Amino acid sequence: MTTLFISPPDCQLHDMGDHHPECPARVAAVEQQLAASGLMDLLVREEAPKATREQLERVHDAGYLDAIEEASPAQGWVQLDPDTAMNPHSLDAALRGAGAVVHATDAVIAGRARNAFCNVRPPGHHALRDRAMGFCILNNVAVAAAHALEQHGLQRVAIIDFDVHHGNGTEAIFADAKYDDRVMMVSTFQHPFYPYSGTEGRSASMVNIPLPARSGSQAFRAAVEAHWLPALDNFRPQMLFISAGFDAHREDQLAMLELTEVDYAWVTEKLIAVAAKHASGRIVSMLEGGYALGALGRSAEAHIRSLLGGVGVAPLRK
Ligand SMILES: [Zn+2]
Repeated sequence: MTTLFISPPDCQLHDMGDHHPECPARVAAVEQQLAASGLMDLLVREEAPKATREQLERVHDAGYLDAIEEASPAQGWVQLDPDTAMNPHSLDAALRGAGAVVHATDAVIAGRARNAFCNVRPPGHHALRDRAMGFCILNNVAVAAAHALEQHGLQRVAIIDFDVHHGNGTEAIFADAKYDDRVMMVSTFQHPFYPYSGTEGRSASMVNIPLPARSGSQAFRAAVEAHWLPALDNFRPQMLFISAGFDAHREDQLAMLELTEVDYAWVTEKLIAVAAKHASGRIVSMLEGGYALGALGRSAEAHIRSLLGGVGVAPLRK
């Protein structure tokens, strides 16, 4: 069984201007690190179509989708929120990103791949049903999870978000009581910190764990072991979706949670064990944040190396 890797070329054309941290070099840095490490040769690369209206309207309002189509500029930039802009390629990038996670979900459920990583931008987890926010236009992880529920008839899916920022958009979309038995979200995030949410509304299906600045590896791992893993084990998800933001890395200047790439390997191994026990190994992971390009590349490599089954991690024995 294989790990699928989808890295849409359109995602490198979305550009919010010089000096914006959410820049095209991010997805290029992941690709370069995978090539340099040799992991790229082990991944199965596929292209994906754009997400359809039907797929997007499961989690976004039709009026919002109309609005971003109409806002898409022929040249220059259009500002969607103080942090989020569209250039002439942004709409296609967003649609390709959401299409990638749908395609990966189809491939993993069909058994064509064991798991998948989608190297996409713009990221998604701050995007609300009716509003772009915090570098995000379409909520990719929500689109993927809803696709697994509605298209494939899964009964229970889990969303795991280890981005340093709280995935407020994802929480808002799935906090609706109609999802209580079908969607579990577990997350860790720096708090208090943008977007200053996530500490209210905790429930059996919303296990969002705030961590203070400078928490570091031990506090992160303790939160995962004390809160995420028992909740996931109890929920028995049939598939896992990962909002893989790597901006909690200690080299990332946007935040101060002080994790390392070893932590990303560690948490991925834990999630692989959950997936093996309950979900036939099914995981679809997608890029969210991560702005220190070197740390982003190494962190994504550690995460994907684990998805591949830890190739190269175990010591060789004679
Ligand atoms: Zn983030």
